[in-house]
Amino acid sequence: MPEPEAHSRYPRRRTRQITLPHPSRPVAVGGDAPVTVQSMTTTKTADVEGTLQQVYALAGAGADIVRCTCNELEAAEGLAQIVPRSPVPIVADIHHQYRMALAALEAGVHCLRLNPGNIRKPEHIKLVAQECKDRGIPIRIGVNGGSLHPDLYKKYGDRIVPEALVESAQMELAYFDEVGFDDVKISVKASNVPLMIEAYRQLSEVTDHPLHLGVTEAGPPPAGLVKATAGLATLLSEGIGDTIRYSLTADPVEEAHAGRQLLEALGLRERSGLDLIACPSCGRAEVDVIAVSKAAQDAFAERNWPIQVAVMGCVVNGPGEAREADLGIAAGRQRGHLFVKGEVVKVVPEAEMVDALLEWAEIIVNDGVEAAQRKADDGAAAEAEADRLALLDEQGLDANASEQRIERIERLRKPDDE
Ligand code: SF4
Repeated sequence: MPEPEAHSRYPRRRTRQITLPHPSRPVAVGGDAPVTVQSMTTTKTADVEGTLQQVYALAGAGADIVRCTCNELEAAEGLAQIVPRSPVPIVADIHHQYRMALAALEAGVHCLRLNPGNIRKPEHIKLVAQECKDRGIPIRIGVNGGSLHPDLYKKYGDRIVPEALVESAQMELAYFDEVGFDDVKISVKASNVPLMIEAYRQLSEVTDHPLHLGVTEAGPPPAGLVKATAGLATLLSEGIGDTIRYSLTADPVEEAHAGRQLLEALGLRERSGLDLIACPSCGRAEVDVIAVSKAAQDAFAERNWPIQVAVMGCVVNGPGEAREADLGIAAGRQRGHLFVKGEVVKVVPEAEMVDALLEWAEIIVNDGVEAAQRKADDGAAAEAEADRLALLDEQGLDANASEQRIERIERLRKPDDE
């Protein structure tokens, strides 16, 4: 029986819209944009390759936006290399040090998350907001019950109450107002579900900024999943919430899957069949990634095969970044390297890339991933490695000019009065 079309019975409260300005996949949050799924990497952000692989795995599992911690300058320097290669917008998570916010902006991130409970000096908050305004980068005000501003905690009788969470967000908004910055989404998370639900209800009455929903520190599944779902589903069914995150003590890929499944279950997102992901293209791209991914999308349109297919702009990093994809193609030296779960199976002329994708997708759908890997051409992996090394030799290690961004981040290393 065909799937009924996704549609929601829950009218959404109207919020203003902000956009995370990824160059090839900008993501709108709020307004009439679909509710989005977020997750957060668990790698050290300075580990560029490990973090990128997790970003790709999260994107493949349904995350529209991925957050990475930016807790030290080395993390910001990692972001300078991660951001140009990420398939989805990257949010830098900032706590305590406003200087890390400035470093993350130098790295080129698409959004900041600031915790008003631990970046408290008004002049620092306004400086970061001004920088974001100048660069067109939005901020999430991320209030958290566990790190509430001490003054508010005291004001409300040494208790975390919904009113305190809402007031913390409003105080931060007032600082942003002073510099004319309003490109903002807000979260008021708590680990206590009724508290979190009430805080978001109150917040949605006093602001039209888009809301990022979450039950913080929900814990490991299955209890964590139940807790988070109780909070998220209650609010979404009331029309509250523009983007969601499951905070589970688990592989973050589980968070992304859960987010996606919840939205599909509520009819807030379309059910997914074929999942085509593509890299954003960067200084290393060897092909017009947008044109090839569009051609692949058209070619696959009539076949809603339940597999993930990746179109990657270069053979230097493509197969590694998208190694979780069932099937992918990466371009290099006028050829396409086809890979199945990260293993190169065939090298084809560039003009045959899309046809080859279709042919191998059919093999995977009919016979499975392992059977497809067993059909790999002899010598394909060696040919691919030779192309990869030749390109590295031609382009050098820093095709994205990340070094210049890193130099600017290094200048932030000076001591100051924070
Ligand atoms: S061109 Fe290569 S390095 Fe750049 S984003 Fe695409 S796959 Fe990654």
